[in-house]
Amino acid sequence: MNQTLYSAVNGCIPFVYEALPSRVRFGHGTRSQVGEEAERLGISRALLLYGPPHAEVADELAGRLGPRHAASFDGARMHTPVEVTDEVMTMVAAHGIDGVVAIGGGSTTGLAKAIALRTDLPQIILPTTYAGSEMTPILGQTENGIKTTQRSPKILPESVIYDVDLTMRLPVAISGVSGMNAIAHAIEALYARDANPVINALALESIRALVKALPAIKADPANRAARADALYGAWLAGVCLGSVDMALHHKLCHVLGGAFNLPHAETHALVLPHALAYNAPAVPDVMRRLSAALDVDDVCLALHQLNAAIGAPRGLRAIGMPEAGIERAVELALANPYRNPRPLERDGLRALLRRACDGAEPAAVTSEAPHDGQAS
Ligand code: NAD
Repeated sequence: MNQTLYSAVNGCIPFVYEALPSRVRFGHGTRSQVGEEAERLGISRALLLYGPPHAEVADELAGRLGPRHAASFDGARMHTPVEVTDEVMTMVAAHGIDGVVAIGGGSTTGLAKAIALRTDLPQIILPTTYAGSEMTPILGQTENGIKTTQRSPKILPESVIYDVDLTMRLPVAISGVSGMNAIAHAIEALYARDANPVINALALESIRALVKALPAIKADPANRAARADALYGAWLAGVCLGSVDMALHHKLCHVLGGAFNLPHAETHALVLPHALAYNAPAVPDVMRRLSAALDVDDVCLALHQLNAAIGAPRGLRAIGMPEAGIERAVELALANPYRNPRPLERDGLRALLRRACDGAEPAAVTSEAPHDGQAS
């Protein structure tokens, strides 16, 4: 059969691909280039954001920025509470800040993005987890206990410095689930309604890199090659997240994080095998591609086993999900749902969440309702 690679991956469906403008430096020790990046962006009074594990590196970066460093802040919190951003906005005004440098995981990156949304100041991000937020024009922020998400070109960081050395001491327990968070971005990109062959290629490359790297990091957290592969996979997964629309899995994690304050990366890791099992019947081509990329017959079971191999918690209950919360989570997921390749069915979602709560193996969720076909 004379089939082009494009038609093989996309069924000859026309598509749109829009590259997001961001500059990336990748390697070991690349943080030494932070001064050059600040100069390129015309930053002369930088606000340096960091979390407690990075106080020492923040000192080092302040030294490298020299006179371009104007002030520092170390109080970023998960889910980007607006009151923290307001506090930092006062600093931005008081110090005449003209650019932001952030070192940390998605929480610190989120604060940098919240400032950029309000000021359009340039950002340099040095990621230390595999969350992928640095590659997206998306910000989730929390006000009065409600987390809302918005998208704007102002939010996308201009420059990202991936320094593998900054991830070498990311605790094993966080490394594994954070890597699963990245795999979730890549998997949902494959069946996004606006999927395209470029993002498909990045997604599969990302998944291959992370699936190989995460168990190796568990076995030896100081494995430099595995750390580099994981960060590379996380970068590509972040591009996927920023480029195409996510579906049921991300909706469920958003609901669970917001309503029950469950930890972000762990929730993604534990829901992923079950959300994919729910969608699998609607996306047979995606399942075939994942199966080939991972070299396994049962992709959902392989992801469940990967969770065990990296030492993820046993199930959502182990990270604080109340059994009685399942009904509320189903209601919230059904209200204002993300577009999903398979229609959302109350019974199916309930069964999915119950299995994720229990830490059970993922199971095919059958349905009498017709599927609306595959989105990619
Ligand atoms: P995080 O940034 O909260 O970090 C988790 C923990 O790991 C923290 O205690 C942190 O101090 C610690 N840590 C981080 N890097 C470390 C390192 N190298 N060594 C030692 N400790 C380290 O968690 P996260 O999972 O990276 O980010 C979660 C947040 O990011 C959530 O608020 C989520 O909504 C957001 N997020 C947003 C996007 C987006 O595109 N908008 C994408 C992904 C995540």
